[in-house]
Amino acid sequence: MAWDFSTEPEFQEKLDWIAAFVREEVEPLEVLFPGCEYLPLDDQRRKIVDPLKQRVREQGLWAPHLGPDLGGQGFGAAKLTLINEILGRSSWAPIVFGTQAPDTGNAEILARFGTQDQKDSYLAGLLSGEIFSCFSMTEPQGGADPRVFTTKAVRDGDHWVISGRKYFSSNASVASFFIVVAITDPDVPVHRGASTFLIPAGTPGLNIEATHHLVGSQHHEAGHSLVRYDDVRVPAEAILGEPGQGFLILQNRLAGGRLHHAMRSIGVAQRAVDMMARRAKSRFTQGSSLADKQLVQEFIADSYAELIPFRLTVLHAAWLIDTAGEEAARAEIGVCKILASQVLKSIGLRAIQVHGAMGLTEQLPLVNVLLGGVALGLADGPTEAHKVNLARLLLKGYDAEDPEWPSEFLDNRIEAARAKYGALVDRIPALP
Ligand SMILES: Cc1cc2nc3c(=O)[nH]c(=O)nc-3n(C[C@H](O)[C@H](O)[C@H](O)COP(=O)(O)OP(=O)(O)OC[C@H]3O[C@@H](n4cnc5c(N)ncnc54)[C@H](O)[C@@H]3O)c2cc1C
Repeated sequence: MAWDFSTEPEFQEKLDWIAAFVREEVEPLEVLFPGCEYLPLDDQRRKIVDPLKQRVREQGLWAPHLGPDLGGQGFGAAKLTLINEILGRSSWAPIVFGTQAPDTGNAEILARFGTQDQKDSYLAGLLSGEIFSCFSMTEPQGGADPRVFTTKAVRDGDHWVISGRKYFSSNASVASFFIVVAITDPDVPVHRGASTFLIPAGTPGLNIEATHHLVGSQHHEAGHSLVRYDDVRVPAEAILGEPGQGFLILQNRLAGGRLHHAMRSIGVAQRAVDMMARRAKSRFTQGSSLADKQLVQEFIADSYAELIPFRLTVLHAAWLIDTAGEEAARAEIGVCKILASQVLKSIGLRAIQVHGAMGLTEQLPLVNVLLGGVALGLADGPTEAHKVNLARLLLKGYDAEDPEWPSEFLDNRIEAARAKYGALVDRIPALP
């Protein structure tokens, strides 16, 4: 029997270690250093965070998304899901385990498309968690439609000259380098005319015009920047991959990243369900606990009924990647991207409601669950665009049929059944 939902005991031991470690050692960082996850470590934070990273390394759990060639264990996507759903419970856990976005996706495309020189310059620091990176694609005039992108790179002798503006470039303010998407051939469709470039922070002409913060986040956070590329001159070898490969690289980067977000979202949602259930059993009103109220029971049951299929869908997509490759899991990854946002929004909202007014304050992490769901409905492409893509992909698997009579039209089916078995039965349907 090939369908198996069990976890090998040795791997379960690792998961148990991760769960206890995140709960006891990592979660306190959320209140000690709120919103500092993406700030370069100062002496104070380093004293605590470096030894935690070391313990993760000693367990062989550092950067569990990577294969052995890049210093990971090659766990594969299904095991990574089981790890990431635990890491998703704490905002600091991805940093302590070396799995934080957008650096994971950036490292993967560097490893896959980078030259040896590019890997030597950027990859080691990224994989060791010592530097942060920025992926700069969205533009002020629109992020969901690459056809509106105008940032361009023009070849000038041994250099490329990049000019344009990018919006919502996360972590630009702390990044050591930028991966920028720019049009290199405006005469062909954008999926063949865009390229990606590696630009070190501090390169003349790379200017951060403004940094915006999501509501509910701290102002010292790295945030999301409006970046101006004013004739940024980079050597010819700063291109990542080949000219015109920008979209291929982009798709590669985003598919894995979307699934990683979904894996972590399971943990975020589970934490909200746990909080909701504990509060429901502890709070009394009108003579009974909230857990005794049927409407609150519905909140808990509905939340679980959303969480479990979401978790199984993510695990199934991961299993498909492990067994058949990422291309075979395209539709499933799209479903995970859509569900992650929906599940966080609906469970987050119910968890806030069960906690009453306190649920809306900074004292509890629940508004972040709700807003995290809203953000996931936009980051890496809006839900609507993913639904359109998913539908297109699914429709490719169907042929058009007779426009008048659908293939399930009863009269036609009877006719077909009569042609096949009519000689053997008195009448169709052959009821007693
Ligand atoms: C937390 C966060 C982090 C991000 N980090 C980065 C980053 O590091 N680098 C980066 O480059 N970008 C980043 N983004 C930007 C993100 O990729 C864009 O927000 C996204 O692609 C949508 O672009 P937009 O915001 O310009 O919205 P628009 O393109 O203006 O779209 C607005 C709305 O129009 C509707 N819409 C759009 N397309 C369709 C469609 N095909 N069918 C139906 N309706 C549609 C949707 O409702 C959509 O929300 C981040 C976003 C968030 C929220």
